[in-house]
Amino acid sequence: MIDKKRLRVVIRGAVQGVGFRPFIYKLATSLQLDGWIINSSQGVFLEIEGAQDTLQTFLLKIDTEKPPHAFIQSLESSFLDVAGYQGFEIRKSENTGEKTVLVLPDIATCPECLSEIFDSTNRRYLYPFTNCTLCGPRYSIIDSLPYDRSGTSMSAFTMCDACRTEYNDPNDRRFHAQPNACPSCGPQVYISDSKGNILARNQEAIDGIANELKAGKIVAVKGLGGFHLMVAAGNRDAVATLRQRKRRNEKPFAVMLTSPDEVEIECELDQSERRLLQSSESPIVLLNRRSSALQSSIADNVAPNNPTLGVMLPYTPLHHILLRALGGPVVATSGNLSDEPICIEESEALERLSGIADLFLSHNRPILRHVDDSVARIMAGRELVLRRARGYAPLPVNIGKTGNLALAVGAHQKNTVAFLIGSNVVISQHLGDLETEQSLSAFQQSITGIQSLFEVSPKTVVSDLHADYLSTKHAKTLGLPLVTIQHHHAHIASCMAENQLSGDVLGVAWDGTGAGTDGITWGGEFLKGNEKNMERVAHLKTFPLPGSGQAVKEPRRTALGLLHEAFGEDLAQFNRLPTIQAFSNQEKSLIIQMLNSKFNSPLTSSAGRLFDAVSSLVGLCQVVSFEGQGAMELEFALAGTDCQESYGFDLGFEIDWLPMIKQLKDDISRGVDVGIISAKFHNTMADVIVAVAEKEKMERVVLSGGCFQNKYLTERTISGLKTKGFKPYWHQRVPPNDGGIALGQIYAGIR
Ligand code: ZN
Ligand code: ZN
Ligand code: FE
Repeated sequence: MIDKKRLRVVIRGAVQGVGFRPFIYKLATSLQLDGWIINSSQGVFLEIEGAQDTLQTFLLKIDTEKPPHAFIQSLESSFLDVAGYQGFEIRKSENTGEKTVLVLPDIATCPECLSEIFDSTNRRYLYPFTNCTLCGPRYSIIDSLPYDRSGTSMSAFTMCDACRTEYNDPNDRRFHAQPNACPSCGPQVYISDSKGNILARNQEAIDGIANELKAGKIVAVKGLGGFHLMVAAGNRDAVATLRQRKRRNEKPFAVMLTSPDEVEIECELDQSERRLLQSSESPIVLLNRRSSALQSSIADNVAPNNPTLGVMLPYTPLHHILLRALGGPVVATSGNLSDEPICIEESEALERLSGIADLFLSHNRPILRHVDDSVARIMAGRELVLRRARGYAPLPVNIGKTGNLALAVGAHQKNTVAFLIGSNVVISQHLGDLETEQSLSAFQQSITGIQSLFEVSPKTVVSDLHADYLSTKHAKTLGLPLVTIQHHHAHIASCMAENQLSGDVLGVAWDGTGAGTDGITWGGEFLKGNEKNMERVAHLKTFPLPGSGQAVKEPRRTALGLLHEAFGEDLAQFNRLPTIQAFSNQEKSLIIQMLNSKFNSPLTSSAGRLFDAVSSLVGLCQVVSFEGQGAMELEFALAGTDCQESYGFDLGFEIDWLPMIKQLKDDISRGVDVGIISAKFHNTMADVIVAVAEKEKMERVVLSGGCFQNKYLTERTISGLKTKGFKPYWHQRVPPNDGGIALGQIYAGIR
């Protein structure tokens, strides 16, 4: 029997009145897919059913075969359970839909605008702020609704006669294009030094910056949703200087390349990845690097020891013009110090980035909302958004049921906030970790910003159970009825919400850290129940983290905590393990003393920490320079191995990893290849999930939490569950990491 799925697609853009519905009808029937399509005030909605492969083909053909005048500003798809449609129909347009005002995200430059800026006879030749009704800035420049020029940061610019004529002509492709501009009336770019002195303007400025990049300089470039820091991606020394000044040792940088063809030289690129890369959302796409890319134009320290590369294409005219002038790829990373929000104001950028950037390419169109680049990848054959920001925010996720207007404040890391408006959940862009004053104020501004933009005021607020999260503390100051939702419950509810699931499921919530209901730090949890009420039915056996937060930074400490839990204080038999070797004798006895006396060594059931510990045991990662590095390196190590073996474990309410650690240690002593050990470890973790599913006998198994950013673990778990007759569900449009928590808080907490 083929595994049928229902694909739900929402398309926004120039898709009404251009023959789009008949096109979809022909495409669906030619592929023998069942379902329907409808026009609504929010865009074109369609649902089709069939085999996953055919649905994937359908999605790709929407892009490649759409009618000539159709342009897609946003396409969001979700794979759902089948509804049992017979045949395909064009349904009557409905206007009963909810009146949630639609605010579009920022949209990558369209092909027609692109051809104008490289046409030397066009009046917008090389003009970096070219846009039209279909493309250009939206969310990042909107102050208030209705979406009119006067309510955007373009209000300071008065249109010239030529622009005004276009704007007023219903037959012009700039009819009511609110950010419409040209070289004589619109915003301008300029170079400034770190003191704010202007050194060059307009095309001279862009050419000047291209030359500085060629010379190995670091430049801060004000783009669409904030400042990027850029260096030439092929210049190893310049990349090293950027790392040193930004205090970012090993965490991979994203790169911007001029075209998909150039991307294909560096990375493997299948059709779905190509579509994602070229979409109007234009996210950073994680791609596998070609092992044969000998003549790579990207320096090895851009993404050190990393078989993947985060790649994006230019998405504004400024980026297109700059990359063409430069003639090669650039590193384009958020203009901030580690963990702070991206800079949007020039004065702020000069102050905060002057120690990093040699020069600034700025412009005089204010950015009203900071919007980072989004990150996505193809996993288990479909799209998965890992960071939801530019191109996606603030489009709503429809959860198919309504509740009181509520605000969810998210968790702590990778924070987002969400509002339930009718049956739509408006999720903010990625706001970052709520660790610095800047990120906290970005968080507060986002809440008030969305409230005033959509003219809503919440009746309830939902927060994490963790009382010390700054988000929880803020929620308590609002004077509204407060609902708290346990962290892992929120993860599962988040995944249920976007898969439109309701009722009983088995939830697998695996991540780094979350406060449990028993005061212990959870993270390897199995929860059973429905979106509103969940009960913990199993968890990974706990172990201590000597030094608490310090153990998160040092997987070797976590590994020592694990060994101590498993074998007691006599660890002499492990003296040759890389973990033990990574400590001096003094450090080692100090930590063992901590563990013996249980001083500052909180227990955790975290799966993420177990990945960290194993990455230390096999000698891959003893001290991390960014969150999740241990688990990432462990996943990378198994690339190319085809090992199907696993280790043992004991099933129970507490799932004991002791058999696994013993066998793993024997493998290490026997000198088994690290890739094989890593594969066996990953396989075991997937086996654990399948075993719990068999024990709990729940057909629907929901996977959420940061661990499911791991492609191998996720794909292995999905196929393991399917083989045994279970229905696995995983994330699509909302991240599995804590960026998805706000949505889950809403779904679990609505009243
Ligand atoms: Zn355009
Ligand atoms: Zn003009
Ligand atoms: Fe989490």
